[in-house]
Amino acid sequence: MSALVLDGLTKRYGSFTAVHGASLRIPHGQFVCLLGPSGCGKTTLMRMIAGLEEPSGGRLLIDDGDITTTPAHKRDFGMVFQSLALFPHLTAGENIAYPLRIRGVPAAERRRKAESLLELVRLPGMGDRPVSRLSGGQRQRVAIARALALEPKLFLLDEPLSALDAKLREAMQIELKQLQRRLGITTIVVTHDQREALTMADLVVVMSEGQIRQAAPPMEVYRRPADAFVADFIGMTNLLEGDVTAPGRLSVPGGELALEGLPRQGRALLSVRPEEVLLHPATTPGGANRLSGTLSFVRDLGASVEFRIEVAGREIVALTRPQDRPAVEPGGAVTVEIPAGACVVLPAEGQAAGE
Ligand code: ATP
Repeated sequence: MSALVLDGLTKRYGSFTAVHGASLRIPHGQFVCLLGPSGCGKTTLMRMIAGLEEPSGGRLLIDDGDITTTPAHKRDFGMVFQSLALFPHLTAGENIAYPLRIRGVPAAERRRKAESLLELVRLPGMGDRPVSRLSGGQRQRVAIARALALEPKLFLLDEPLSALDAKLREAMQIELKQLQRRLGITTIVVTHDQREALTMADLVVVMSEGQIRQAAPPMEVYRRPADAFVADFIGMTNLLEGDVTAPGRLSVPGGELALEGLPRQGRALLSVRPEEVLLHPATTPGGANRLSGTLSFVRDLGASVEFRIEVAGREIVALTRPQDRPAVEPGGAVTVEIPAGACVVLPAEGQAAGE
């Protein structure tokens, strides 16, 4: 199966390295999200893939052919940028048909193709509408349809949904994902929004300071973050630090945890997802992996209930299903259980995962 391969792609601006040795294999038909904080190099990496930025080092291969120096217009990639770059004086249909016109496709075929693309992005019959009279979400769809007009090998989108309000944005995330599934086209989206990446991607590529920190399916990035940066950036987790006191034993504020995968000595950092933390009445016998705490805050989130528990001066967040909600009120004592299987031991800073 064909694939897009990034082999040590690097971009330097003078002495500053914006992207450092990015290597990644993207199988055909995958939906990839490049995710990371502002300035981490995701746009630069995307622009190198698009051919808009020349790499300072490394190679880019598609279907085993080297396209590192192939100009952007010869790569057969479709692109959508945050600005959309639609022609405001043209209709939706004319915008979509524009790349076909440049390629010399006859007018009747252009019209037919534009109509079918309008249907694809759920804007049937809107072809004659000037883009200036379309809503933000509709413009977004026109830009997507235009980028797909030439049936590109690769579909690239840079923060395509960031200008939309929260509700429309969520709807478009699902729509974009469904469209990509239907077409089976390899798609790369740049985003700084964790939820967006987890919602849409088959493969989440987390970047920081010009480097790929983890490339994995969303649930793996969520459950098994490769390092402290990924755990913290994806968020929604408890980070616990402690000292290894004996093999498989970690002393943390408020008690001791028994778990596998600890270093032999020194300090260790754990990521524990709130939905895996268990809460028991304070009368529950203590023991390994059980910490005593005080409930400081409860919040009903509808499908789940969030608890914040103070344990030896630090806060642990737990999420339970409403039906499993323990009968404890804020201010009351509670026993927190951290199951060994819920703990992900993170490599210390500067150390690669698995070392
Ligand atoms: P954002 O989410 O804010 O767009 P990003 O992750 O996409 O951020 P990039 O735009 O790729 O980040 O930029 C990565 C780094 O490279 C930044 O520190 C930026 O200032 C720097 N950079 C980007 N383009 C250039 C350039 N043409 N010359 C010099 N430095 C640049």
